[in-house]
Amino acid sequence: MSISAFPYSTGFLVNCFEVIPAAMDSCIGVEQDLDKALTKFNGLHEHANKCLEDVIKQVEELKKEIANQPANSPLSQEQSAAVSELVASIKQNVSNLSTDHRELHATVSRVGKSIDRHFIADYASVAPKAESFCNDANRPIMEQAIAQHLYRQGLEEAGDAFVAASGCGPVARACTFALLQRCAAALAEGDPSAALEWAERHAADLQHSPLPFTLHRMQALKLGREQGVGAAIEYVRLVFPAHAARHERALQAAVCALAWCAPGAPPPPAHYRHLLDPKALGAEAGELFVREACTLLRLAPLSPLAGAVLAGARVLPALHDLRAKMTHPHVVAAWADEELPLEFINLQVDLGEDGGGYHSVFACPILRQQASEHNPPMRLLCGHVISRDALNKLAMGVKLKCPYCPMEQSPSEARQIYFS
Ligand SMILES: [Zn+2]
Repeated sequence: MSISAFPYSTGFLVNCFEVIPAAMDSCIGVEQDLDKALTKFNGLHEHANKCLEDVIKQVEELKKEIANQPANSPLSQEQSAAVSELVASIKQNVSNLSTDHRELHATVSRVGKSIDRHFIADYASVAPKAESFCNDANRPIMEQAIAQHLYRQGLEEAGDAFVAASGCGPVARACTFALLQRCAAALAEGDPSAALEWAERHAADLQHSPLPFTLHRMQALKLGREQGVGAAIEYVRLVFPAHAARHERALQAAVCALAWCAPGAPPPPAHYRHLLDPKALGAEAGELFVREACTLLRLAPLSPLAGAVLAGARVLPALHDLRAKMTHPHVVAAWADEELPLEFINLQVDLGEDGGGYHSVFACPILRQQASEHNPPMRLLCGHVISRDALNKLAMGVKLKCPYCPMEQSPSEARQIYFS
């Protein structure tokens, strides 16, 4: 079915791809209501304080005036009138304040309604088979994935407790990723020694990576803080020459920053502040470390569970939007149950930079069948992908015309694709 056959095709596709930015719009919408509530709250706070101060002042003045009277003498008529006037004014003030407070409550509950309005609370319609995670066949798989995730994060104790409680069978405990995670956690705490040790072991593979310099810089600044600038300079002389050519400016900045490491040094200029903040520098180095180490060891930076959750969270709004459009009366009337009102190939949702790299199953755009071991996806010379059965059907002897671009090529030039 071609895309032009769909009566709202353009709007439909645009909507599909706008779902992720739409989440941002939702956040902005809620933020606006929240800002309104906060402005009102702050205004009321100021106003209430001023009212109370005024009342206290008036009470104190009256008290002073009455205290000046000789003891046990009755109040003059003017004084008792002033007392009743003040009491009435206090009552009025209290009543005004409680009215303001009630109005504030309405503004606050509007934020709750705004959250309900801007976000989808119930995703059950797009995941009608969610309960299949809990059936006898899938439950152990889920539990293994959770245990694996815990071990990967270096949370051995939690992992052990989970394995014992769920009885999900043995899960590999020793995990390279957990080691990396521990190095990254130490970096975030400002300690680069474990990461440096790892980087030393992989020095040959890290020749073109900024990681060794980043770690040595952190170590030099740490030495400057803990053992004095002299020790740091000694370290710099020892290790920095190897990095001088590639990181000249960063190296100069790091050496200059040492001047502010000494105890009692004046506050550093703004552009050195980042270098002298061990936590900020450590968090940044930790991220770089995990990224570089995962690339080097060919590890996915996320556990299968974390990857699935991240990709799922990104894809849910798009699925929800799609579902809403599929159940629209116009669409229901025009299409049969088993058909999608748009090209399957266009059903992609961008998972973003860090969430990308996940492949859903491949469905052949020609035969509209899910690829399998016997009918795998094949990449044509032009870059288009179809299933092997479709390729065999389309091939005319030694010639094949791509159904999409339509480049002429030989069927033997097509290559099988493997999704990992
Ligand atoms: Zn092509």
